[in-house]
Amino acid sequence: MIRTMARLKAGRTALIAPALALLASAASAMEPVRSDGMPLPQSKPDLALLYPAEPVDISLPVPRPDPQTILPRATRTVAEMYLQQTGTETGKDALYTLKNGEGLGKLLRRAGYEATDVAAAVDAVSGRASLRALPVGLDVRVTPGGFAFTTRNGRDIFAIDDPEEGWVAFSAIRPVERYLSFAQGVINDSIYRAAADSNIPDDALAEYVRIMGFSVDFQREIRSGDAFELLYEQQIDQISGEKIATKLHYAGLMLSGSQLGFYRFDHDGSRVGWYDRNGNSAARTLIRTPISGARLSSSYGMRKHPISGYNRMHKGVDFAAPTGTPIIAAGSGVVTKSGWLGSYGRYIRIRHNSTYDTAYAHMSRIARGITPGRRVEQGQIIGYVGSSGRSTGPHLHYEILVNNRKVNPLTVSLPTGEKIPAELLADFRSQVELVEAEVLATGSVRFAAMELLPSERGVN
Ligand SMILES: [Zn+2]
Repeated sequence: MIRTMARLKAGRTALIAPALALLASAASAMEPVRSDGMPLPQSKPDLALLYPAEPVDISLPVPRPDPQTILPRATRTVAEMYLQQTGTETGKDALYTLKNGEGLGKLLRRAGYEATDVAAAVDAVSGRASLRALPVGLDVRVTPGGFAFTTRNGRDIFAIDDPEEGWVAFSAIRPVERYLSFAQGVINDSIYRAAADSNIPDDALAEYVRIMGFSVDFQREIRSGDAFELLYEQQIDQISGEKIATKLHYAGLMLSGSQLGFYRFDHDGSRVGWYDRNGNSAARTLIRTPISGARLSSSYGMRKHPISGYNRMHKGVDFAAPTGTPIIAAGSGVVTKSGWLGSYGRYIRIRHNSTYDTAYAHMSRIARGITPGRRVEQGQIIGYVGSSGRSTGPHLHYEILVNNRKVNPLTVSLPTGEKIPAELLADFRSQVELVEAEVLATGSVRFAAMELLPSERGVN
């Protein structure tokens, strides 16, 4: 981990200064991003072409011991592991698949093992894996000198007939490399289509939309020509070649009127926060559009009621969406009402703090466990779009209440989330520098976060 960090630093610092200079000249020209006819660089989706060619690690060093240094690394074949562990050769790997009603012992017999070897091998493995839990269809690589299989949690179990020690079994960690990619592109109609064109992984995009969703309404605020950018990491299993995880490190958006840039920060390995480069949280207390892929079908204000025909105040906003579309909690809080409420049909109300409440109506279904008194987290699914109560078609009627007064959810000013704690600010700034060095190293001289660089403005 530290080795790759050092390589990253040594290899990239030289690139930062010229990139900054370029940026300064671009900034002084003051050209708006969207009027530029030059296309933004395309991401390189092919793993072999991913930027940069060599795996890097931009996470800060962790003081905990790395399991990779404790457990041996898995090898591609059992034969390789056998050679590594014993210094002698064994036969080639052969693949056996666990049949219905067959245990590991029976499989090993089928593979030609002697009964005494089977007993000793099974005994050794039973201390490492739950043999009863082995699934039918499990692939077991078998050689005369040992065998291996992969458990559900992605760890490899090797069993080796060591010429000196007899049968031993141990876990091995599959080697994983991390690849960083920076993707930047222009949005023509939808962020989803633009992201698909850039081959951005679904999970990275979902995280991006969630973070930006606090500040931006992707259904209504995006104009053609707005640009998005993501720096994400993909973890690839070096044996199977499969992607095992994606981690978004930076999310940027260049809107016609403003620029947004947010950085991931891992607080303690369990909690992840997103902040702008000054440490202000990306999270708002409430999400303005607690549903994705919906169309605003009726806004807040005076309107002719679709059923009664009378003019009356519509004290919420309606989002048309297919029945069953998930509705999420606009903010963390406590459910105060959940169930049928007259013309609202199936209805949920959440109290977020002493000032803010949100309400959701006409659901087809309320999610399991969403009952009064229950705590919900922002983004948690609370129910599904429907047309219950006084409604002409499937939609979400959404209300934000400030001090129990219904306000326009699309325009009410919402307070920002918490700032990064002062004692973590130095760590956070180091993380920001690493991310920015990475982005600049791709040659991207204009990216959303740079607009906010204090050094460029002479302010802090
Ligand atoms: Zn409504």
